[in-house]
Amino acid sequence: MNILFMGPPGAGKGTQAEVIVKEFGIPHISTGDAFRLAIKEGTPIGIKAKEYIDQGLLVPDDVTVGIVRERLQQSDCEKGFLLDGFPRTLSQAEALEDLLSGLDRKLEHVINLKVDRNKLLARLTGRRICKSCGATYHVIFNPPGQEGLCDKCGGELYQRSDDNEESVGIRLDEYINKTAPLLKFYDEKGLLREVDGEQEIGAVSQEIVSLLRG
Ligand SMILES: [Zn+2]
Repeated sequence: MNILFMGPPGAGKGTQAEVIVKEFGIPHISTGDAFRLAIKEGTPIGIKAKEYIDQGLLVPDDVTVGIVRERLQQSDCEKGFLLDGFPRTLSQAEALEDLLSGLDRKLEHVINLKVDRNKLLARLTGRRICKSCGATYHVIFNPPGQEGLCDKCGGELYQRSDDNEESVGIRLDEYINKTAPLLKFYDEKGLLREVDGEQEIGAVSQEIVSLLRG
């Protein structure tokens, strides 16, 4: 089962990925983890990646693709994998196609978690932090007993500046613009499966599992 997970920040991708990898006994491959592993193990491509990161430079596509290739060749990927956070651009998607065909494999499903932009904004801007003790709350998912006040110490709750609607909106629009061509690419290949990410967490998981069991 070779799966790619897509979805904007706040859609619940991480939560769902955890459920799916357990259900199918496949590894969850995020590029962040793959980078950390390659760097820790000091593989040739890991050393190359580290040079860019240490200089604060953007890691070029061929290095990222190399990291993913290395990760997909490890034995735990024999039964399949769930890829998350890569590809992010059309050229990376094309590179992934080449990489997989070189390994005699292919993507079988691209799951896209869909959540309305306004709902995402509400999820992503709902975090509140206590000024006194630093405890975190969420106005939807983990609200304090009394609005605006910390349950633990009675301190005042505030919203971090980068959690405001404007900066979150910019992040969301960037994601949407960048990934739209990718969704089209996978749709044209007949791989794209859209899942309603506004349902309850359990219902979303069930829908994904039944799509994958097809
Ligand atoms: Zn507090």
